[in-house]
Amino acid sequence: MPLIDGKKVAKEIRDAIGREVEQLKAQSGKVPGLATVLVGEDPASAVYVRSKNKICKELGFISLEHILPQDTQEKDLLALVEELNSNEAISGILVQLPLPKHIDSIKILEAIDPAKDVDGFHPVSMGRLMMGTAALAPCTPSGIIEMLDRYDVEIEGKHAVVLGRSNIVGKPVAMLLLHRNATVTICHSRTRDLPEVTRTADILITAVGKPKMVTGEMVKEGAVVIDVGINRVDGKLVGDVAFDEVEPKASLITPVPGGVGPMTIAMLMQNTLKAFKAQPA
Ligand code: NDP
Repeated sequence: MPLIDGKKVAKEIRDAIGREVEQLKAQSGKVPGLATVLVGEDPASAVYVRSKNKICKELGFISLEHILPQDTQEKDLLALVEELNSNEAISGILVQLPLPKHIDSIKILEAIDPAKDVDGFHPVSMGRLMMGTAALAPCTPSGIIEMLDRYDVEIEGKHAVVLGRSNIVGKPVAMLLLHRNATVTICHSRTRDLPEVTRTADILITAVGKPKMVTGEMVKEGAVVIDVGINRVDGKLVGDVAFDEVEPKASLITPVPGGVGPMTIAMLMQNTLKAFKAQPA
């Protein structure tokens, strides 16, 4: 089966980070620190934040958890971000999205010190990503590139088709692929004749959020298929790809769950370690 095992790759990355943290601790007595901020009671967000904090602890990071009520005022959240910006024990700050509607997410993301922006969503980080100089790239996109590299997928000169143009997945992964010399096409809800485009993809990345929208006839024989989608159908997690139809045609494919998901958290930890090492001792 041509499966990309995201769980296995993510574990390898986490193990390497854990070893490095032990060394850093032995050398300097200091370790990276991640602060997570969760506002409200969105159950999916609470699950994500819990697993991020758990992995932080497993890796020997300092983990600071802030769980704030749904009716938190924007000014109070800004004050917390400011406090974390100046907390020397904290290398990375993650404000879990989505935030409640009465809070301006952009304002909050812009308040995070770019040096601690481990999600890579600050406009400065985004600008650097565009220029190819990002130290902290968004986690899901960089996890995708890492998986392709570890499975020896050639990117240069290949046609990569990205379905979805969000700021957190579609656009940044397209930019990372471009920097690796792929020819990149970005598709979205107004793209005409989508199957015609997807059939030309050597590497097809789907980040839409619609179960089974990518069918077998949309995929070229031998394509590498990365399914970012997370959809809940009858209580089960499924991706954007009709796996049973596409898997026989693909040379490599990610499962859902167990593909891109675990990589996202591993790259968050990687970014926190990077941010720690880049900050003054
Ligand atoms: P968004 O809803 O922000 O973006 C979805 C994109 O899909 C939009 O650009 C939209 O186009 C496009 N789209 C919608 N319908 C179609 C269609 N019929 N054909 C082509 N494109 C279409 O989603 P996100 O990028 O935030 O997330 C995408 C998926 O990835 C979700 O399932 C999410 O849960 C998952 N995800 C998984 C992560 C992981 O770690 N595995 C991390 C982040 C997200 P338009 O812009 O025109 O509206």
